[in-house]
Amino acid sequence: MGNSSFGLSIFFILHPLAFGALISAQYFRKSHREGSKARRNFHRKVTTLSHIIPIRFLAKQSPNLSGQIDRVGIASLQRTLPTMTHKTVLMQSRITALPYRPTGKPVSPQPTVCRLPSTSHVPDGEPSGIIVSMNHIIAVDIGGTHLRAAAYPLSSLEPLQHYRIKTYQGKRTPQQNLLQAIRSVWPPQGSVLGIGVAVPGPVDPYQGWVLSTPNIPEWRNLPLAQWLSEQFQCPAWIENDANLAALGEWRYGAAQGHHDVLYLTISTGIGGGVIIADRLLRGAHGMAAELGHVTVWPEGPLCSCGLPGHLEAIASGPAIVRYVREQMSGGVSSSLAKAPLLSADQVAQAARQGDVLASQAFQRAGKYLGIALASFLHIFDPSIVVLGGGVSQSGDLLFQPMKEQLRQSVFHPRYLERLQIVTASLGDSAGLMGARALVEDQLHLQKNRPDP
Ligand SMILES: [Zn+2]
Repeated sequence: MGNSSFGLSIFFILHPLAFGALISAQYFRKSHREGSKARRNFHRKVTTLSHIIPIRFLAKQSPNLSGQIDRVGIASLQRTLPTMTHKTVLMQSRITALPYRPTGKPVSPQPTVCRLPSTSHVPDGEPSGIIVSMNHIIAVDIGGTHLRAAAYPLSSLEPLQHYRIKTYQGKRTPQQNLLQAIRSVWPPQGSVLGIGVAVPGPVDPYQGWVLSTPNIPEWRNLPLAQWLSEQFQCPAWIENDANLAALGEWRYGAAQGHHDVLYLTISTGIGGGVIIADRLLRGAHGMAAELGHVTVWPEGPLCSCGLPGHLEAIASGPAIVRYVREQMSGGVSSSLAKAPLLSADQVAQAARQGDVLASQAFQRAGKYLGIALASFLHIFDPSIVVLGGGVSQSGDLLFQPMKEQLRQSVFHPRYLERLQIVTASLGDSAGLMGARALVEDQLHLQKNRPDP
C-alpha cells in the first residue's frame, strides 16, 4: 500500500461522508463494467445504500444544507469529494424516494457539467472544467401537437439552437422524438447544466413524474425527469406548463418586478400559475393553481376533465365555440351559420363585425372569467394578473365583460387598487422561458441571470 493509498484510508476512516461516497462510486463502477444486469443490481444496492448511509446524517455534514436534502444537495455533497464524477448524477437520479423541494437555504452554485452521450455509452473521466460563459440550459415545451426544445446560453435570453418536432412524428414514440429534439439543440461547444421540461397536464414536480397528459395518453405515471437524467447524464426537472409560463412571465416577461402574480392562459383549455412572495406556488402534491378547473357553475356544461361547471368548460376557446353551435342549433341566427369549421378566432371576428350571438358568446365567457378572477383575487391577492393564450388575443371582447363582472364580484374594492391586468408578453415562448427559469431555480443560478 503506497503513501497516497494509506493517506486515503485514514481520510475515509475519519470522514464518514467520504467513505459512503467511495462505496457508492465503487458500486457504480462495478455495475458499469458488468453491463445492464449489474446496473439493475446497482439500482437495488443504491436503494439499500440510501438506508446504510442515513441521508439526514449526510446533510448534517454540510453547512449548506439543513434538515431536508435534495438532488442538488447531493450533488453539492458529492462535489466535495474528488472521487465522485459526473456519473454520480445517474446515481442521484436513481434515489427517487428523495423529494427535491428547495430547502430555502441556497446550495453552492457549482452545477454538474453534462455531456451529450453519442450512444448509450456512459462517458468516462472527469469533466474538463466549467467555463461559465459557455454554460447552457436546455428547455423543452411539450405542447399539444408539437415538442419544442431550445438551448439557452446562461448569458443570453436568445436560444442558441431551437428545434420543433411533431409529438407523434414518424413511427417514433413521443419519448424518442423528445430525445431527438434535445439532441438536436445540444450545444456543440460548451456544456449543459440541466434540462427543464414543461408538461401539459398534472405532474408531480417533486418526484419528476408525469401523472397524465391529454395528448399523449401513454404517458401515465411516467418518471420523465429520471429517465431524461439517465439518457443525458444530466439533472432534469419537470413542471406543469402553465406553472412554468407563470414563472417565465414573472422572471422575463410581463410580470417582472412583481412579488405576487396570477397568470391565466385561455386557449383550448384554461391553465394557471401563481407566484406568491417571489416563489412559484406548487402545493403539497405539486398540483396547485389548476385555475381552469374551479367550479363557477355547478349545473354547467361538462369540462374536459369530466366534471361539470368548471371555468374551462365555459370560457375556453372550444367552450365559446360550443355555446355558439348550441345556440344556432336552437334556432338563433348568426353569420357563423355558414362556417363549416368554427374556431374561437372566427367567433371573435364575427363579434367585431356586429354578430349578436358571437358578442353574447364572449360576454358570457368574460362574465364567468370575472367571477372566477374575483375568487382568485380573494385567495391570492396578486398585484398583477397576466392573461395569456390564444383566446386572450380577442382583447376587450373578453376583457370588458370580465372586468365588469370582476368589479361586481370582489367583496372589497381594495383588491382592485393598483391591480394591473395585462396580456402576456412572451407569447408561445413562455413555456420554454419558464423551463429555463425552473433549471435556474433548481441550480440556484437566478442571481446570475441576464437582464431581459
Ligand atoms: Zn375541469
